[in-house]
Amino acid sequence: MGFPCVTIDLKKIEHNTKQLVKWCSDRQIEVMAVTKGICGLEKVARTFIKGGAKKLGDSRIENIIALKQAGIPVPIYLLRIPMLSEVEDVVRWADGSLNSEVEVIKALSAAAKDFDKEHKVILMVDLGDLREGVLPENVLDTISEIINLPNIDFEGIGTNLGCYGAVKASYDNMKSLVNLAKQIEKTFGIKVKTVSGGNSSTLMLLKEGGLPKGITQFRLGEGILLGNDPSTSKPLPDTYQDAIVLKTEVIEVKIKPSYPIGEIGLDAFGNKPVFEDKGPMRRAIVALGKQDCRIEGLIPVDKSIDILGASSDHLLLDVTKSNNIKVGSIIEFNLSYGALISLMASKYVKKYII
Ligand SMILES: *Cc1c(COP(=O)(O)O)cnc(C)c1O
Repeated sequence: MGFPCVTIDLKKIEHNTKQLVKWCSDRQIEVMAVTKGICGLEKVARTFIKGGAKKLGDSRIENIIALKQAGIPVPIYLLRIPMLSEVEDVVRWADGSLNSEVEVIKALSAAAKDFDKEHKVILMVDLGDLREGVLPENVLDTISEIINLPNIDFEGIGTNLGCYGAVKASYDNMKSLVNLAKQIEKTFGIKVKTVSGGNSSTLMLLKEGGLPKGITQFRLGEGILLGNDPSTSKPLPDTYQDAIVLKTEVIEVKIKPSYPIGEIGLDAFGNKPVFEDKGPMRRAIVALGKQDCRIEGLIPVDKSIDILGASSDHLLLDVTKSNNIKVGSIIEFNLSYGALISLMASKYVKKYII
C-alpha cells in the first residue's frame, strides 16, 4: 500500500446505499445515487446499483463518459446544469440532465436531433438556496418554451437546497415543489413524472416524517458515501461514517516549541497565523498537504491527536498524548465531504478499493 491513500470499503457503501434506499422506497421515492464524490469510480457506481439505486448522477461529463464506456446499465444524469460548449457530449453520453436555461435546453434539443436521440430534462427550481434554478414565478413560462422542443423529454422538476445558501429542506419548500408539479400538470395537461426533492440534506426530513407526499426522487451522494447529514453534520442513523478513510504516513516526529521562533510574517498561503504558546509539544508531520486535501475536513480517528495546521505538502499534528507514533507510523482520518472530494481529485492520493 502506498501513502497517502484513501481506502474505499464497498461492503460499507453497499450497506449505506441499501439503508437509504429503504428509507426512500418505504415512501415511494427513487434514489439517484451521485458518483461525483468518488470521481465516478466504476466499482463504487456498481455498488450503488447493487444497493438498489435505480439511476446515477454526476456533475462532470468526463465521469459520465467513463461510466457509460464501462457499460454501467442504468440511466445517468448530468447534475450540473450543462455548459453550452458541452451539449453534444451531454446528449451523446448522458440520458438526461438538470437544467435552468431555455437557451441551453434548445441547444440540447438541436444536438439530440442530430444524434437522433431523446434527452430527458429536469427543470431546476430555485426555492431560496440561490444556486441553480428558475424562480418559482417563472416556471410555467419556461416550461411552455421547452415542452414542445424536438427530441427533448420534459421529465419533471427538481430543486437543490443546502448548498450555497445553506437553506434547509422543510415541509414548506418541499410542498411548494409538489404544488408546482401539480400546477404544471393542470396547465399543460401533461404528467410530471419526476419531482426531484433534493440531496442528502433532505434525508432527515424524510426520516422524521416531515416530507410532503408527491416527492418522487432524492439525489444522494454524501449520505451514502459518508453516512452524514450535510445540514447538521450529524451521522445518519444506521449508516457507516467510515466507509472511506484516509491513511497518511509520518515523516518526522520531534519535541518542538508550540510558538514559532522569530518575527512572524505571512505564511505560505498569505495568511498571518496566530499561535498560542503551550510550551514544548511532540509534533508529527505526515506526508499530505493543502495541495491534496481540504485539511479543515479531516478528523483524526485517534481522538488524542490534534491537527495543528498544514502547508502545501506537510500536515502538522500534535501527538503529545500518543507516545507510540514514530517515523513510518500510519495515521488515519475520517473525512468530511469537502476533504473527500479534494482527496479523490488529487492525483497524488492513491485510491484502494477494499
Ligand atoms: C452534488 C449534488 C447532489 C448530491 O448532493 P449530496 O449532498 O452529496 O447528496 C444532488 N444534486 C445536485 C444538483 C448536486 O450537484
